[in-house]
Amino acid sequence: METIVIIGTGMAGYGLLRELRKLDKETPVTLITADDGAVYAKPNLSNALAAGKSPEQLQSQSAEQIGASLNARILTRTQVQGIDVAARQVATSQGAVPYSRLVLAMGADPFAHGVQGAAAQRILSVNDLSDYRAFRAALDGKRSVTILGGGLIGCEFANDLATAGYQVTVVHRGPYPLERLLPQEIAQALGAALEQVGVRWRFERLALTAEPNDHAITLTLDDGSVVTSDVVLSAIGLRPRTALAAAAGIATGRGIMVDRWLQTNVANVYAIGDCAEVAGLVLPYVQPLLQQVRALAATLGGRPTAVAYPAMPVAVKTPALPVTVAPPPVDAAGAWCLEAQEACLVGRFEDAGQLLGFALGGQAPSLRMALAKQLPPLLPEAPAGQAGATMANS
Ligand SMILES: Cc1cc2nc3c(=O)[nH]c(=O)nc-3n(C[C@H](O)[C@H](O)[C@H](O)COP(=O)(O)OP(=O)(O)OC[C@H]3O[C@@H](n4cnc5c(N)ncnc54)[C@H](O)[C@@H]3O)c2cc1C
Repeated sequence: METIVIIGTGMAGYGLLRELRKLDKETPVTLITADDGAVYAKPNLSNALAAGKSPEQLQSQSAEQIGASLNARILTRTQVQGIDVAARQVATSQGAVPYSRLVLAMGADPFAHGVQGAAAQRILSVNDLSDYRAFRAALDGKRSVTILGGGLIGCEFANDLATAGYQVTVVHRGPYPLERLLPQEIAQALGAALEQVGVRWRFERLALTAEPNDHAITLTLDDGSVVTSDVVLSAIGLRPRTALAAAAGIATGRGIMVDRWLQTNVANVYAIGDCAEVAGLVLPYVQPLLQQVRALAATLGGRPTAVAYPAMPVAVKTPALPVTVAPPPVDAAGAWCLEAQEACLVGRFEDAGQLLGFALGGQAPSLRMALAKQLPPLLPEAPAGQAGATMANS
């Protein structure tokens, strides 16, 4: 009998299960996860303090509850150790699990921070709900936090922690936050707005070592200066989990490479979410994975459907200065131009009159919608006649 196996119970894995069940209530679906399979929205992790939410309140359902409501078998605390694409089964810590179709929804790993020293092991990162539980436990009764990395997630945590009354220092290697996503003026305005809520910046610096200092941690930076705080959080970025796929002979690049039908180079093996590189694009955000799960559910239901991406602006959850950005394509020619409009800083990235990206520093929902409409789609609808996978070789 046809069995769909999904590795991963994050927003991609559970999102696919929900979409599949809208189309087909019966086909057996098994999900495998290394964690407890709790259902939660990962973006809430970086604004839960301001929202007054405990880790327990972030969980909307247990694995048992979602499994029962959507007729799925969920293997929790089960590590996938290998994929045998010839035998069509995955090896797990609980034994082999056969599949007819396999979906990799395995997420991404935090980058190693590279900090040395006796307290380096105490540096935390938050990439799932159980990490977040550990982070909140570490914050209990403490006052100060140093964040490594002033990118999207580092800025969100900095805002959340500062608003909740913690002393926050951010060590960032760039000259201002989010320098790879935003035009300079908006990035600097974000840095200044975070400073206004109490965030201290250490720009153009790297943390080299972490040593214990009573119950606190002292970081030494690359200019010899030190920063001491109770808790250190690393938020320097994520790397798609590709190792298991690569070991199984599945093509990987920056992520697990799939075509517009979300299929890898191996027939009946698909990838979605943060682990996937879809037609050359690695977009580790919620909107792309929602597009993916709708398309893949249709494909698995017997109607091959290519994923299409409209323009998908990303909202940075920094209430000190809410930022929205739709970055231009990496190789785009053109330049940013800035203006103030509706009490908002507006950056437009244009090439020969064509809007290719934009950034907003401030709340301007109607402008955001208007600009998003002018952007070309990131992946246009597939032309008629291309309904079928292109990468699979077996
Ligand atoms: C703090 C934070 C805030 C964010 N805020 C936003 C936001 O505001 N907007 C936005 O669009 N995006 C945001 N993102 C990104 C967004 O949350 C992710 O793109 C999305 O949640 C990824 O879901 P996923 O299912 O692909 O991966 P994950 O949620 O990481 O799930 C991976 C799953 O794979 C399982 N797994 C992995 N390896 C194995 C193995 N070997 N064996 C068994 N199971 C395995 C894990 O147990 C887990 O169940 C944020 C991310 C973070 C960390």
